Amino acid sequence: MTAIRLENLVKRFGGFTALKSMDLSIGDGEFMALLGPSGCGKSTTMNMIAGMEEPSEGRILFGDRDMAGVAMGRRGVGFVFQNYAIFTHMTVRQNLDYGLRMARSPKAEIARRTAAIADLLQLGDLLDRPASGLSVNILQRVAIGRSAMMEPAIFLLDEPLSNVDAAFRAVMRTELKHIQREFRQTMVYVTHDQLEAMTMADRIAVMDHGVLQQVGTPLEVYNNPANVFVARFIGAPGMNLLAGVPVEGAEGLRIDLGALGRSAVLDAPLAAAARRAKGGVQFGFRPEQVDLVAAGAGLGMTVGFVERIGARTIVHLERDGITAKAVFDNDTRVLVGDLVHLAPHPGALRLFDAATGAALR
Ligand code: ATP
Repeated sequence: MTAIRLENLVKRFGGFTALKSMDLSIGDGEFMALLGPSGCGKSTTMNMIAGMEEPSEGRILFGDRDMAGVAMGRRGVGFVFQNYAIFTHMTVRQNLDYGLRMARSPKAEIARRTAAIADLLQLGDLLDRPASGLSVNILQRVAIGRSAMMEPAIFLLDEPLSNVDAAFRAVMRTELKHIQREFRQTMVYVTHDQLEAMTMADRIAVMDHGVLQQVGTPLEVYNNPANVFVARFIGAPGMNLLAGVPVEGAEGLRIDLGALGRSAVLDAPLAAAARRAKGGVQFGFRPEQVDLVAAGAGLGMTVGFVERIGARTIVHLERDGITAKAVFDNDTRVLVGDLVHLAPHPGALRLFDAATGAALR
């Protein structure tokens, strides 16, 4: 069952188009992340789903019901923003059960839900504390709890973790996933943080400049990015993309990578894809999907910088203005100035049309 359907959704602010014809279906009980850089239109999309902004064109359906003209308070959605909105003169408990008290829910029901949410969000010991003295981390947890208390069928969260500290964010990622599993809610989660999207979402909608670039599971967008934007944006660091020209040889098709020489012979499906690109290709491989090989094999590049980040080492490589990155274990012994030879894993190669940026498959 589809919980939310966006059809040809457009939003203009004066002469500026913040969202260009978005189509997206979100399943019942699905956790969908809207992911993209600042200004890509994530919040605008979310505000229209919530009923805070009117679409300029297109439709929003909840199930088969058109939401045009339905006020925010009547959509049955819970909404949590980046900046918590907590009543500081109330206790944690009073904040949590505020909505249910206003709705005159039975006392036993209020107590049951408060206990369940307090347990999920580890607020049990703080229920009778005044909100005024609590940290930003805890206040955001209370804000999430207050919305969750209403058990909305649709739960919208707009960067709810961007103001909490890193350790707490990691804990909250797990707790939000628990809330969603517990209540089987449809969650739409706006973030510019791919780690949040990758770890929590069932599917990710990647956006850029008001355009939906790709919708897929975290692994789909990581393994098979639809275009060069998604290839670079997903992954830390993003995918390496090198300008190349397909060249036919006796053994098969290779990609000429200029100063780096030629790639290994492509397998049949990749070669067929490469032949479709008339204006050249972008040769893509993930920094974590390469091996160091002996001189004479692979792509020769010079180490410009070595970034050690604990478990892994990111090696920045350069050759005649062409740059790439490679990620190795932390015991890899490479030094600045070394000439190394890289062989991307054959199954991990991705090709993109140089003219359009679209993946060639
Ligand atoms: P961020 O993470 O920075 O909020 P976002 O992807 O959520 O980014 P939106 O807030 O949806 O982006 O904004 C998309 C574009 O629309 C931006 O260029 C923004 O400046 C513009 N915009 C948003 N709201 C308005 C408004 N009320 N009037 C004019 N322009 C707006």
